[in-house]
Amino acid sequence: MSSKRIFLSLSQQSGFEHEYVHKALDTNWITSGGPNVDEFESSLQNYFDDESFVTALNSGTSAIHLALILLGVNKNDEVICQSMTFSASANPILYQGATPVFVDSEEDTWNICPEFLEIAIQDRIKKGKKPKAIITVHLYGNPYKVDEIHAIADRYGIPIIEDSAEALGSSYKGKKCGTFGTFGVLSFNGNKIITTSSGGALLTNSKKVKEKAIFYATQSKDNAIHYQHSEIGYNYRMSNVCAGVGLGQIKILDKNVKSRRENHKFYKEIFRNIDGVEIFEVVNKDYFSNYWLNTILIETKNQKNKDDLILALEKANIESRPLWKPMHLQPVFEQYPYYGNKVAEKLFEKGLCLPSGSNITQEDKNRIKEVIINFFK
Ligand SMILES: *Cc1c(COP(=O)(O)O)cnc(C)c1O
Repeated sequence: MSSKRIFLSLSQQSGFEHEYVHKALDTNWITSGGPNVDEFESSLQNYFDDESFVTALNSGTSAIHLALILLGVNKNDEVICQSMTFSASANPILYQGATPVFVDSEEDTWNICPEFLEIAIQDRIKKGKKPKAIITVHLYGNPYKVDEIHAIADRYGIPIIEDSAEALGSSYKGKKCGTFGTFGVLSFNGNKIITTSSGGALLTNSKKVKEKAIFYATQSKDNAIHYQHSEIGYNYRMSNVCAGVGLGQIKILDKNVKSRRENHKFYKEIFRNIDGVEIFEVVNKDYFSNYWLNTILIETKNQKNKDDLILALEKANIESRPLWKPMHLQPVFEQYPYYGNKVAEKLFEKGLCLPSGSNITQEDKNRIKEVIINFFK
């Protein structure tokens, strides 16, 4: 195979990453925490432009874990989680020894379903336990039904951890994703909107909570001359070298969102004339998606299925993937409660993610288009 591989989701560089990384090396700030980390946090705080306090961490998964700890989630607690997501949304519930309760998606946004969320909350309360937190996800960058979901959570007084790992640059009714929950979570993994190689952030609206997050993320050192610990600590702080990459990346955050949204237009144009294939789109103007990944559903009445398309693309050295397999179908989670009506199952059965990186060129698009058009001919 001679053509270069087109990956599902890669970022591009601004060119400024070197400068900040060199600064870390030249000043010997090769540590967790440091000046690049502080500057990265304040750049993000400026970007969110509201009351958000940002804690830079070594991954999005760490951010979810710390959010659960800060909410006091422990063994014997239950935490509701959107079933259709990446496993990193749910794994930290088990790190705490708590029980995940999974909730189905709805068809408009593919995210957590308000009706089943309320059914789940009521049923868990009836069974004797009010859920301690709800983990919501803006899947593929597409905002969930923020107003409905938060109204339900507020009615029962349950805090929301908003997994915005895929949704940096997305917004709902003009307000940025990541700022709706009691906690917001970002990821800067290599495949996300901007990257620090590996990294994440926790958003809160309280300076005190941010300080507590840093305390836990840096091994819970009490205020003493010697190392004194009265709580369990974690090694979750972002590295100063990685934050240098992030400072270069944040300069092109808007540009990356623009490229991904252009990819969306490209796919929309292709699938407009293909029968039995539906490209995911936000339902109305309240929802602004970064279109982190472009996704399609291939109707089962169609002669072709998603697995064949994956193979056809693979043959041309182009990466594609099925949608996230719902958590309640995963061997590691199938023993836990689930509330829903098979919406996530159906999406998983018919759905596919197409190459959507912010580095995709016109030449790449031509290759992708050719395979897709030939496949459905
Ligand atoms: C990537 C991702 C995470 C985890 O982020 P990491 O930085 O890889 O730990 C969490 N949730 C979702 C939905 C993600 O896509």
